[in-house]
Amino acid sequence: MSTLQPVRGTHDLLPDEARRHRLVEEIAFGIARRYGFGEIITPIFEFTEVFSRNLGETTDVVSKEMYSFTDRSGESLTLRPEGTAGVARAFISGGLSQHLPLKLFYRGPMFRYERPQKGRQRQFHQLGIELLGIEGPQADVEAITLAAHILQALGLKDHITLELNSLGDASSRAAYREALVAFLSGRKDKLSKDSLDRLERNPLRVLDSKDEGDREVVVDAPLMADYLNDASRQFFDEVQHGLSIVDVPVLINQRLVRGLDYYCHTAFEFTSTALGSQGTVLAGGRYDGLIGQMGGPATPGIGWAAGIERLSMLAELAIAEERPLAVIPMGPIDVAQALAQRLRQDGFNVELGYSGNMKKRLARANKLHARAAVILGEDEWSRQAVAVRDLDTGLQEEVPLAVLEDRLARFR
Ligand code: ATP
Ligand code: MG
Repeated sequence: MSTLQPVRGTHDLLPDEARRHRLVEEIAFGIARRYGFGEIITPIFEFTEVFSRNLGETTDVVSKEMYSFTDRSGESLTLRPEGTAGVARAFISGGLSQHLPLKLFYRGPMFRYERPQKGRQRQFHQLGIELLGIEGPQADVEAITLAAHILQALGLKDHITLELNSLGDASSRAAYREALVAFLSGRKDKLSKDSLDRLERNPLRVLDSKDEGDREVVVDAPLMADYLNDASRQFFDEVQHGLSIVDVPVLINQRLVRGLDYYCHTAFEFTSTALGSQGTVLAGGRYDGLIGQMGGPATPGIGWAAGIERLSMLAELAIAEERPLAVIPMGPIDVAQALAQRLRQDGFNVELGYSGNMKKRLARANKLHARAAVILGEDEWSRQAVAVRDLDTGLQEEVPLAVLEDRLARFR
């Protein structure tokens, strides 16, 4: 293993890729702002307990994927595997319950010790939102509508499906859990080892197992919808009604779950057929119990997160090309440097040629797709002028330095 390789599961974002990545973030945040969301930036590491206690010991993320380490003072710290727990911690430690409802947007790197494959890294990036303090289904509708709007703006609308389910309130969920455990317990011989483990600790997770044998068993499992009490049913109906009013199409998927106990009511995922088995681009749900369980004031919440690498792979981005001006010194470089600086201060995007004969430098300017070349020849310079060549037409003219910016304005 060479230490000059990136660590397994990490990758560099070279300039073109980084540009797409940032554009995806900017488009998403630009739309989130229209819905009243402000950015929150929380630390990349937290006390390990922020995740282990609140994401639940039984989730994959906590049981096998965390990057935890002991720092020099003996504290156990963890690189964040997801965004919600840190935001909830910030909400409590910052006393933000005075400011409800809160609409928060975040973005940044996340870390999970996973088996790397296409669309799955150990350091990856997410953007996401949390909408805190609203109990009613209108918050769910707004959070999902915002997600759909962002995916539309990224050009994903045509190959993306919104899958939706309701987990009901705590009592509906408990009733369902009991029925599901009874059903699965009679079929233990057909379940995978992972699912047997989940049956004990987190039975709902068996429903979204990727194992073929598990999937066959689950086909006949009781359905959550049959265990929703009246209030939960009504909540779910209102979410669906709200989404139909804003023209967001949904596919009900009764197998869609979120693993954790504090999740309730709405669970959803946006999936794409264009990504193979890593098809989920954005996932979220309602987590009314989380902040209370963490020791904060009971506060309802709903949120979602999307993988930026997956969004970037799928997005149709119109990347506006900024064509530079090429400053080509045929005499002293310091004079050219001063002129390039003057033009940059004036807002032009300037490439300064460093070496080679005129032909080579022009070839380089064309390779950079420069719009025009500003050539500093000795003759023109003695007349306080430069030559400006339009690289699209090949037309060249002498321009006095005093009016250079005016003449270059059309090449901006
Ligand atoms: P999966 O079932 O694919 O492991 P998950 O339930 O672990 O997904 P979430 O925790 O809901 O995923 O994360 C939300 C989104 O973040 C995913 O839909 C995906 O787009 C992205 N994501 C999650 N894990 C990774 C990863 N290891 N590499 C790249 N993107 C990821
Ligand atoms: Mg995962």
